[in-house]
Amino acid sequence: MTGVDVLVVGAGLAGLHTATLLAQGGHDVLLVERRPSLTGAIRTTGIFVRKTLDDFPLPAECLGPPIRRVVLYPPGLRRPVTLVSDRDEYRVGDMAPLYVAAARAAADAGVRIALGTRYAGRRDDAFLLAGPDGPTRVRARFVVGADGARSKVARDLALDRNDHLLIGAEEVFEVSGHERPPTFHCVLDPSLAPGYLAWVVNDGRHAHVGVAGYAHRFPGGMRSALERFGTSAPGLPVAERPHDVERRGGPIPVGGLLRRIGCAGGLLVGDAAGAVSPLTAGGLDPCLRLSELAADVLHDALRAGRPDALAHYDGAVLRARFRGRLLLRRGLAQVRTPAVAAAAFGVLRTPPGRAAARRILFGDRSFPVPR
Ligand SMILES: Cc1cc2nc3c(=O)[nH]c(=O)nc-3n(C[C@H](O)[C@H](O)[C@H](O)COP(=O)(O)OP(=O)(O)OC[C@H]3O[C@@H](n4cnc5c(N)ncnc54)[C@H](O)[C@@H]3O)c2cc1C
Repeated sequence: MTGVDVLVVGAGLAGLHTATLLAQGGHDVLLVERRPSLTGAIRTTGIFVRKTLDDFPLPAECLGPPIRRVVLYPPGLRRPVTLVSDRDEYRVGDMAPLYVAAARAAADAGVRIALGTRYAGRRDDAFLLAGPDGPTRVRARFVVGADGARSKVARDLALDRNDHLLIGAEEVFEVSGHERPPTFHCVLDPSLAPGYLAWVVNDGRHAHVGVAGYAHRFPGGMRSALERFGTSAPGLPVAERPHDVERRGGPIPVGGLLRRIGCAGGLLVGDAAGAVSPLTAGGLDPCLRLSELAADVLHDALRAGRPDALAHYDGAVLRARFRGRLLLRRGLAQVRTPAVAAAAFGVLRTPPGRAAARRILFGDRSFPVPR
């Protein structure tokens, strides 16, 4: 049986970033990922917000053209509201090469990466892994649950677990510079996307057409909502029917950061910790920022040999800063019919409504993590 300082479960952005920072700190890190390849079964649209692009050195060749224009639509798509920023607000990541680049950085820092290897649980003082060569056991001083919204590590560590989830699905295909300028189209229609949005992001290279909402509220199911939206979605080339369509999707935790995300045995990062904006459902910026805090805390715990240092990794303290966004999430969840959505949309046509939308879409706030 091998022994490591830290076992990181899940090679999404949260796991890759946490593992890299820990290895850079001189620790022995094993990162396990159940997918056989990092380029398959991608879940996210990959929209990175300006604050993330400013603060994290993402490889420029893995990012699409900047987006400054957002168009908001009511049900029926009539009289949309267009917001244009004078700064580059978003870029869509080319996620497959981006994950590969992040894995290369992790390996360069000394992380051992085991793909096709599933974390299967904990027995006595060892973690059980199921890999291509059969089951193995590994001993680790700490385990990091970076294993997504339905974290098994959270369950095994008896930490909090996400119970407020949206479900999202999208289709991605190439477009040929049809739309200028690159635009993020958001449709607020609970008959298409109950509790959230239907979207088209067209940056002139790729179009992402998606819906997300509360799973049990999709009339006819999420797949049929996505198909329906695909036939009327704004911002797409009319004539072009794509040949190659990549499908993505998965759960999105929007109940806010969980309270208990660390204990003496380990901690949670990314979606596993509920580190997603309850309002916008953006999780890429939160997962990077929380990973930095997690790596700092683990570094201290490993250096001092004191597992109780993980007590400082307290979700309840951070969660308090999400009160406003949690309230707005509750409000969005109440919008159940197109008529109510159309009435609420009227607010966005007023100057204060537009100003509030600009603050949410183009603001300088990011996931609040103390340094
Ligand atoms: C449809 C959709 C669109 C989205 N679009 C955006 C967006 O545009 N911008 C944005 O900011 N956020 C977006 N999000 C949210 C964002 O993608 C996530 O918050 C973020 O990717 C979370 O990263 P993560 O590393 O925590 O989790 P994940 O990327 O889910 O990674 C978890 C990893 O753990 C692995 N794993 C799970 N269980 C095990 C196990 N037992 N053993 C080994 N490995 C395991 C999984 O295979 C996976 O690779 C979107 C989410 C969805 C579903």
